[in-house]
Amino acid sequence: MIPVTKPFLPPKEVFENYINGIWKRNWLTNHGPLVNELELKLKDYLELDHLLYLNNGTIALQIAIKALNLKGEVITTPFSYVATTSSIVWEGCVPVFVDIDSKTLNIDPEKIEAAVTENTSAILATHVYGNPCDVEKIEKIASKHNLKVIYDAAHCFGTQYKGESVFGFGDISTTSFHATKLFHTIEGGAVITKDPGLLKKMSYLRNFGHEGTESFADLGINGKNSEFHAAMGLSNLPFIKNIIQKREELSNYYHLKLEKLNIERPIIQSYTQYNYAYYPIIFPSEEQLLKSKAELEKYQIFSRRYFYPSLETLPYVKEYDVPIAGAVSKRALCLPLYYDLSYEEIDMIARILLRVQKYQ
Ligand SMILES: *Cc1c(COP(=O)(O)O)cnc(C)c1O
Repeated sequence: MIPVTKPFLPPKEVFENYINGIWKRNWLTNHGPLVNELELKLKDYLELDHLLYLNNGTIALQIAIKALNLKGEVITTPFSYVATTSSIVWEGCVPVFVDIDSKTLNIDPEKIEAAVTENTSAILATHVYGNPCDVEKIEKIASKHNLKVIYDAAHCFGTQYKGESVFGFGDISTTSFHATKLFHTIEGGAVITKDPGLLKKMSYLRNFGHEGTESFADLGINGKNSEFHAAMGLSNLPFIKNIIQKREELSNYYHLKLEKLNIERPIIQSYTQYNYAYYPIIFPSEEQLLKSKAELEKYQIFSRRYFYPSLETLPYVKEYDVPIAGAVSKRALCLPLYYDLSYEEIDMIARILLRVQKYQ
């Protein structure tokens, strides 16, 4: 069986070492020493000033929206994971969908201004598949209209935009360390900001609003993560360079093997240092995607339709006319990509895809 993704697991002894420490200290959660150590090491590795480790990437989005006190309309992308939109609605705001750029598959900055109204409070954009948005154009539009910017950077661990971590952009960036992501802590997430005031606010928000044991500074939620999750993160972090390098090699091998396949792939800008988080391909038609996916499944090879359906079709949002996102979401497929995927397995996947297209 070849799954679409397989979580990296560190050598068991590395994890056990951390677990032995937990047994000694008997400190399981609530900002323990391993959580602190992970935060420090992540800031160091990613060269970031501030980062708060959280229990998942969805709570990270909700805490970001709450911390910025967003109200009314939030301009967002229809081509993302459902959590991007559901968090906006969960926080009592209204998602306004702006279509994507057909080359990068990120929100099209040229179309954002037309969607701004007097009720718009923010832009929430996703760096799709770890490929950075046009952060400079978005920043310009945001400052012109006095809007906040949140980036859903759930796919972006290790991605650099013009030499710096893409996590550093926007008022707040959020990320996920879920088991299916490039760097994982089983479940987990983070918020990143450059603003010490926002950092302080979000640190209250993740801990029920507690200011000491008997006083509350703010409305909060439980966004904490445990020592066990941090232990997995600390065990995985030393391997991340290798993991990214391996995924780059596998992706290049896919490029080579799929050269003759009639597909498109998102354009990664030359100033981006990409993290190879996914291997997406865009078929010429949904019919070809469905045939290819079914044929792969006959051989126990599982691809995944990231992202389908397009989010403006969710039952709890107003429908928007975003034809590019609608069309791309029907034709985009992510192929298996993980640390120990073999070249022979890619050969097999490529053979099947080429055969399906030949007999189309
Ligand atoms: C995974 C993901 C999330 C949610 O993260 P969780 O940690 O699973 O809650 C949000 N947005 C995007 C784009 C994602 O891929």
